[in-house]
Amino acid sequence: MLHFASPASPRDYLRHPIHTLKVGSLGTYHALGLAKACGSVFLLASTSEVYGDPEVNPQPENYWGRVNPVGPRSVYDEAKRFAEATATAYAREHRMKVRIARIFNTYGERMRLDDGRVFPNFLAQALQGKPLTVYGEGVQTRSFCHVSDLVEGLFRLLCSDLHGPVNLGNPEEIQLLNLARLVIREARSKSAIAFEPLPQDDPQLRRPDITRAATHLGWQPKVTLREGIRQVIPCFREQLDRSSSALPKPAPSLRESPEVGRVRC
Ligand code: UDP
Repeated sequence: MLHFASPASPRDYLRHPIHTLKVGSLGTYHALGLAKACGSVFLLASTSEVYGDPEVNPQPENYWGRVNPVGPRSVYDEAKRFAEATATAYAREHRMKVRIARIFNTYGERMRLDDGRVFPNFLAQALQGKPLTVYGEGVQTRSFCHVSDLVEGLFRLLCSDLHGPVNLGNPEEIQLLNLARLVIREARSKSAIAFEPLPQDDPQLRRPDITRAATHLGWQPKVTLREGIRQVIPCFREQLDRSSSALPKPAPSLRESPEVGRVRC
């Protein structure tokens, strides 16, 4: 059984804080019960957010993290930490086969344009010639993994007998301002950069230590950030074209309207 249910975009989980807490806690608890009854392997999609705003970089699995338990992001972070604790307790007490993937920032072709995360935001903005919204000064870092690499890592983890959490992500780390510049260049865009306030508790550093996955799963990402951006641009362009052609046609102006002769003021 693969348990991936949860919003993952900060915009989404800030909009649905209680449901995010419920799906990460009660949802995981029920899913584990079902996996136990069926005798299935249970794979939990956890997150690099369990490390919070880390004091160590890169983050290895044995780093316990620095999470604000009552900050706005806590609904996601703490629910996932609870989910890891619950899954581990089931593995210990019921000898269940539990796998925990700590997924770092991932991007891919099918992300929603209004997802709110940085990749869809920057790509949609660059392709429309709008300013790219960099939060804070853009010195915070992230490490982005293409979804094809992530799926390969998840599959290998599912088929393994590895206990305990495993980081899955691309260690190629980049500051957000440099990501904005890279997207502008690769999209051949003339967009400017607009600085906006940094959201509360936004982690300043994030980069996976993937030694464990490399050693035990023989896994490491293949798609570089530049290649990945080039690969997803056509899909975002297509989504934008589709969404603009789906917009309702503007109401005809009085001058163009066939009804114009009959309009009484
Ligand atoms: N970010 C940004 N501009 C945006 C959206 C996000 O500068 O339009 C920043 C955000 O502050 C964070 C990073 O990009 O530092 C990644 O944000 P995202 O929401 O994609 O995921 P997170 O890693 O925070 O969960």
